Amino acid sequence: MNNALVTGGIQGIGLAIVKKLLARGDKVTVFDYVNSKDERVLYLHDLDVSYIQVDVSYVDSIKQGFSKLAEPIDILVNNAGIARDGMALRLCEKDWDVVMNVNAKGAFFCSQQALKMMIRKQKSYIVNMASVVGIIGNPGQVNYAASKAAVIAMTKTLAKEYALRNVLVNAIAPGFIQTKMTDDLSDKVKEHAKTYISLKRFGDTQDVANLVAFLTSGEADYITGQVIHVDGGMVI
Ligand code: NAD
Repeated sequence: MNNALVTGGIQGIGLAIVKKLLARGDKVTVFDYVNSKDERVLYLHDLDVSYIQVDVSYVDSIKQGFSKLAEPIDILVNNAGIARDGMALRLCEKDWDVVMNVNAKGAFFCSQQALKMMIRKQKSYIVNMASVVGIIGNPGQVNYAASKAAVIAMTKTLAKEYALRNVLVNAIAPGFIQTKMTDDLSDKVKEHAKTYISLKRFGDTQDVANLVAFLTSGEADYITGQVIHVDGGMVI
């Protein structure tokens, strides 16, 4: 049985990952920034998931969260992420900072805290949620794309730094996955997106959760420093 920590696990892809890891017998803790009285947190309690309120954009909040963990973790899934879209010429400092702080800084400082525990373990895993946008770019998402590119570079660097400690670090690059994040897109954008997805449909949160489970299963232990696309075969 593993001790897993999933950030941003109250909904969407994160919640699918939580359920997948629970189903195979892992103990799961979620960090998210919503109040512990939120109905999505109460649902996690029903699933027997520990919840710690953490805003991953603040290092102090991350440190406090880690200090409250009941046991050291062997799996960290850096899934928390946000988008604040806007064309480059109009993008404000606040929207640049908040996206970088949640997506890139948050993933790094959670990894830093986790590594302190992981280097004492025989084997452990970090899985970072990147995006195809961090590889190919996307108009209107310069901040988001830059933050996900940072996540990819961080993945490759940490994989090299901690390989000899048997910490395997990989990233997943989802394409369009059906969640609240993509529900907010206009029908026109969604239809256009499908023209360059080979499978002609958006993915399911389960498609991403299945890959997290595989990467952390013990059956993928010669895979580190990789960015694996879950995008229905995007023609890019
Ligand atoms: P979502 O908005 O449904 O979930 C994001 C989660 O992160 C939420 O639970 C939210 O509360 C949490 N979160 C946001 N800011 C936080 C903070 N400061 N501290 C702690 N938690 C915070 O989004 P999703 O679609 O499930 O996306 C999950 C991850 O997958 C994100 O990193 C996203 O960038 C990435 N992704 C999603 C898609 C997609 O198509 N949905 C595609 C590529 C990458």
